[in-house]
Amino acid sequence: MSWAPPRRHRGQLRCLVAGGAGFLGSHLCDRLIEAGHAVICIDNLQTGRTRNIAHLLDHPDFTFLRHDVIAPLQMHGEIDRIFNLACAASPPKYQLDPLHTFQTCIAGSLNLLSLAERTGARILQASTSEVYGDPDISPQHEDYRGRVNTTGPRACYDEGKRAAETLFHDLQACRGIDTRIARIFNTYGPRMDPEDGRVISNFVTRAIRGTPLELYGGGTQTRSLCYVDDLISGLVALMESETVGHDPVNLGNPGEYTVAELAHIVRDMCESRAPLVVSDLPLDDPMQRCPDITRAETRLGWRPEIALRSGLVPTIAYFRAEIAGVETATAP
Ligand code: NAD
Ligand code: UDP
Repeated sequence: MSWAPPRRHRGQLRCLVAGGAGFLGSHLCDRLIEAGHAVICIDNLQTGRTRNIAHLLDHPDFTFLRHDVIAPLQMHGEIDRIFNLACAASPPKYQLDPLHTFQTCIAGSLNLLSLAERTGARILQASTSEVYGDPDISPQHEDYRGRVNTTGPRACYDEGKRAAETLFHDLQACRGIDTRIARIFNTYGPRMDPEDGRVISNFVTRAIRGTPLELYGGGTQTRSLCYVDDLISGLVALMESETVGHDPVNLGNPGEYTVAELAHIVRDMCESRAPLVVSDLPLDDPMQRCPDITRAETRLGWRPEIALRSGLVPTIAYFRAEIAGVETATAP
């Protein structure tokens, strides 16, 4: 792909968002455009959707390029910031084509790091709490080295993201690329794909439709859920901090719930009578997940502000509208 960016206004940052048509990426594009910056969104639309960015397509400071980051990026001109969010995040989706997931993490990161080196851009990697695997300590702080199965079904993602962190670290140390690493914990909100198979999208869509909510393994495992607006504020704060350094930083909401508790909360808030059923726990599914956010608090002054029930209100409204749209479109 060969592309040269349009002219920019004075003081405006030119930001490239890889994975910008996805759930988090599209919210990040919005936030950057609202701040007056220019955004180049790159996405192969594997799990992303053009409807997530449809409202931006006519904006003069927004450009969308359909491209797979595994292929080299022949870009010219100035780029100030690169956010690497390209990678399917839902376990059923990233396990569909494990080799592509792994290549996205490795070749995709290398291509974007190479672009950062050529342009002098600062680059942020969307890493994940999955680098901790199925942790034997809780909460998880950044110095914990994790417990990851290198050959299990989640390995393409977990090991891909771990290796990407290594690439970011080494290219910062050896070539002076200005890197940031965000270890993102489970995040939810509007624009999640209703069919992507993650816990909030599954539970809310099933509660609305009145179909069974499945508790994999009985639902005793825990997750800590961050509302998307808080997470995007954390990503921007991390990218723009001049003092944070290059170490990984956990971004997430430390409020920890069992999956069964989540199911009850969602079902109550949807005023649903959908049954709860138990099914098998997927292999290597982590039993606990809770971020220690001391580093983000002390180095960035960031902490999440939106409680789970508050964040679920717009999330449930969004899924209701999505489901109503599908049902209207498929009505006889
Ligand atoms: P998502 O699946 O909605 O978005 C990922 C986007 O990347 C999609 O638009 C997809 O089409 C695109 N993509 C995938 N492979 C690509 C490739 N090779 N080339 C170009 N585009 C590609 O997921 P999300 O929840 O928005 O997650 C975004 C990023 O944040 C991912 O890197 C994910 O690993 C990370 N993350 C998310 C969470 C979360 O809870 N949402 C948690 C931890 C980490
Ligand atoms: N989960 C579940 N029912 C579902 C979807 C997910 O019980 O319909 C569980 C899953 O086994 C995991 C947790 O919810 O323990 C979070 O799953 P998700 O896919 O959202 O993300 P993960 O944190 O596992 O990457």
